[in-house]
Amino acid sequence: MIKNSIVGFPRIGQQRELKFALEAFWSGKIDADELQKQAKELRLRNLEYQEDAGIDLISSNDFSFYDGMLDTIVLLGAIPQRFAKLSDGLELYFAMARGDEKRVAMEMTKWFNTNYHYIVPELSKSTRFTLNSRKIIEEFKEAKEFGINPKINLIGPITFLSLSKSMDGSNVYEHFDAILKVYEQLLEQIAALDEKVFIQFDEPVIVTDLSNKQKNYLFNAYEKLSQVSPKLNLIVSSYFDYVDEDVVEALSNTKIWGIGLDFVYGKENFDNIKNIKDKYLIAGVVDGRNIWKNDINATLKLLDKITSNVQKERIIVSTSCSLLHVPYSLKYEDKLDSEVKDWLSFALEKLDEISLISKLFHNDVLLEKDNISLNANTKANHSRKNSSKIHNSALQERLKSFTGQKRELPFEERIKIQKEILKYPSLATTTIGSFPQTDDLRNLRSNFKKNKISQEEYEEGIKKYIDECIKIQEEIGLDILVHGEPERNDMVEYFGEQLNGYAFTQNGWVQSYGSRCVKPPLLFGDITRIKPMSVKWITYAKSRTSKIVKGMLTGPVTILNWSFVRDDLAKKDVAKQLALALNDEITDLQNANIKIIQVDEAAFKEGYPLRKSKKDEYEKWALEAFKLSVSSAKAQTQIHTHMCYSNFNDIIRTIEAMDADVISIETARAGNKILKIFKEVGYKQEIGPGIYDIHSPRIPSIEEMTNQINALLEIFPKEKLWINPDCGLKTRKWNEVVPALKNLVKAVKKVRES
Ligand code: GLN
Ligand code: ZN
Repeated sequence: MIKNSIVGFPRIGQQRELKFALEAFWSGKIDADELQKQAKELRLRNLEYQEDAGIDLISSNDFSFYDGMLDTIVLLGAIPQRFAKLSDGLELYFAMARGDEKRVAMEMTKWFNTNYHYIVPELSKSTRFTLNSRKIIEEFKEAKEFGINPKINLIGPITFLSLSKSMDGSNVYEHFDAILKVYEQLLEQIAALDEKVFIQFDEPVIVTDLSNKQKNYLFNAYEKLSQVSPKLNLIVSSYFDYVDEDVVEALSNTKIWGIGLDFVYGKENFDNIKNIKDKYLIAGVVDGRNIWKNDINATLKLLDKITSNVQKERIIVSTSCSLLHVPYSLKYEDKLDSEVKDWLSFALEKLDEISLISKLFHNDVLLEKDNISLNANTKANHSRKNSSKIHNSALQERLKSFTGQKRELPFEERIKIQKEILKYPSLATTTIGSFPQTDDLRNLRSNFKKNKISQEEYEEGIKKYIDECIKIQEEIGLDILVHGEPERNDMVEYFGEQLNGYAFTQNGWVQSYGSRCVKPPLLFGDITRIKPMSVKWITYAKSRTSKIVKGMLTGPVTILNWSFVRDDLAKKDVAKQLALALNDEITDLQNANIKIIQVDEAAFKEGYPLRKSKKDEYEKWALEAFKLSVSSAKAQTQIHTHMCYSNFNDIIRTIEAMDADVISIETARAGNKILKIFKEVGYKQEIGPGIYDIHSPRIPSIEEMTNQINALLEIFPKEKLWINPDCGLKTRKWNEVVPALKNLVKAVKKVRES
């Protein structure tokens, strides 16, 4: 009998082995065979850990060399024309993901409201689909050989289509029949593999506000797919929010085996499962997106509540979503404060939680160690609720009067004053902040952290980097300079490290895209600033040039969205605490005569709830937090903000209401379509739409950028337009950045002259 399941497991490896293997492969240090060999080791280790923990339903095909959507593109044969000539295999695969000398990479965007990025399928009328099931079959067989009967994870057809983009204006659902046929063929192949196979169709899109049309496609799809073979047990898996009652009901009328629902981020699901009938419920009760220890006693109560609608035997204890979104294991954390560490649970530890909850819930015989674990869990949860590390009464006092502040003067008046002081030209050129993070730089920071070098040596190293960075920017001829962020390992961690209420892991990596991982800090308690966080390096950079240097901060919403945040306080209150710390920082920067301050809100958009009904509440506190943060800036201080991948259509009014003087945004991969909205609504502030994609090593030509600038001038007046790359340059190499920026400046010059 199946009692528990894991939606998916981190693929990057317990110490980011996959990252290093991929990067070695890309730089030619290892060959394809070696890469495959290392990948297999990682997959087998994942299976082993899950089996050891006592997990019943373990995934295959949750591994990917880059991204599961990209794998699905390959599975369905939906290869965009420009890659058609490349031979099947890794060359094609990585070219689609990363571009090559001749081809632009496919667009990448955020997976629902997470910080994980997927590759966006490109569909057009001429797209044809053919099944390429090799990866799926191989990974299934590999698990079987290892002695495990895995479920096969697939991205479902409705999520695939909903996240695809149409390249020619045709409706992506025109491909529904064609795609479904390929899925059916796949299921037939899978059915031939074994007596009984579980297939998990990830359909997170069903937690969004579906149109009736989408719902019909959904029912139609699972009606058909669930009838392909009686040997297949199909699970439709949802996560990140709740599924409408009528959708649960309609899915229950098909022949699928089970439905996966998220009871952590979709509490509404409790009320929506009345008509789930004879289906199995894969109940996501262990948080797959956060790192706090599960409160097992509370979870058992929740599960009991579910039994009023679903028979106990049909409830499968599971994670709320794939564990891809949490770090791999606590076992490498030997520096964390032991009290804090005791509150945490990463992917590996969550396996044990699932296993224990499942035993307790299904009344299995408990072993001695299970009782010990349960006691430890109860104790840890008690300690977290009552710890003095978490509450700060002085801060509570200050927060009382910190409400409703806004900037002096309206934008129209501020910008006049700013332009007089700053004297930047039209089409002012700048960058988003970071410059290449070289090995030298990483070694410098890590040696300092490990006490291998002194404070002086470290600071000398940082100064040297800033000196070079300023010199290079001057040589390139950029208008507004940055210090390059050499002191920052990460835009959130860096600030977190200087705030009380934060803790840090050594190895808490989470995949962001491809080989890139982030290490979100842990915001566990009340936030207070210890001392100025950025002033020293910004003012140093300023002292090295007569040009204007822009100060760089990370905004409150982004700090929050990219941290693992305490779940014992409302997000709006956490955001306000962060805003107060940043407000103080802006005062300090301003006092140090920094005239432009960029407050990055890279993650503003991704924090949006997936449901419209929850949107207003988020917007309200997020906007308030940003405005409170920058409210200490005087009229003459120019506030910039920056946002990553976004479709701004539905949030344009909110962006405007943030009232930043200049916003730079990431649009290069998405084209100019998404910018039209700024014109349509008469957006009044200044704007720097990224004119080239920094996620690809490709160096755009002067001509390409000239064209792009000219295209932008159709939308924005030159006085309001800034020219910049579309995001920070830290992941690039100097030999990519320098020529690209030189071309950018030359392109601007050309346009200015014409
Ligand atoms: N200032 C940051 C940088 O340049 C912004 C990064 C981001 O938007 N993700 O690195
Ligand atoms: Zn960005």
